Amino acid sequence: MNSPDFTLLNEAGLNLQAIFNIDEMPPEMKSDIRQRFDPEHRYRQLILIGHGGKAMWAAMKATGVAAEHPIDQFSIAITERWLAGLPHAIVYPAETSVGLQALGKLAGWHHASPFMVGINGIWGSWYAYRVVVLSDSDFAPTPPQVTAPPCSACLDKPCVAACPAEALSGERFDLPKCIAYRKTPSSRCKATCVARISCPVGGEHHYSDEQMAHTYSISMRMIERYTG
Ligand code: SF4
Ligand code: SF4
Repeated sequence: MNSPDFTLLNEAGLNLQAIFNIDEMPPEMKSDIRQRFDPEHRYRQLILIGHGGKAMWAAMKATGVAAEHPIDQFSIAITERWLAGLPHAIVYPAETSVGLQALGKLAGWHHASPFMVGINGIWGSWYAYRVVVLSDSDFAPTPPQVTAPPCSACLDKPCVAACPAEALSGERFDLPKCIAYRKTPSSRCKATCVARISCPVGGEHHYSDEQMAHTYSISMRMIERYTG
């Protein structure tokens, strides 16, 4: 097995990487991956790539990339360069859905938060999944990241009180309340999530206002497109 050199990814801010041998993944995941993406068993490994903190946005902006989905385009381009010479297939971002949070749990990156974005003790909620790629590689699999779930030890839960829609106040996240509030003309959540930014965990990794506006304007456009 080879030790992968993550330098290219790290320099692009794609600083979270998890490598799995597909045949050693939990049976349901393995079977889903093989059936949907690799029925001919062409690939040995699944590689999950993410970004933590602000570095990816800065690296992407420095390239001047201009596209409808600049982060996706940038992340794919870097991943393609990193895997140059190895047979591979990018399965996210793509039209077909992939269970990103399930992969994040397997990598140890994801713990649940009240506002439904994953959280961990290193990055807080300031990380995201960028690429899932199947690869015919022989890299050494990465051990899962081990951190305690931050929300279990957070007694005050300031994010719950901060949500202006009270969407986090029940037993489960109330998505309709969140959406209805975000659509109001005076919404404070057009370009951010007030609950998310009130969480102190990993606060030093908080995205810039520009990255927040980019991310939340995408979800706002989806809301407007699908709910009118
Ligand atoms: S404020 Fe507390 S409960 Fe809310 S996401 Fe952060 S750690 Fe979890
Ligand atoms: S986006 Fe706004 S309304 Fe929705 S959960 Fe976050 S704080 Fe609450």
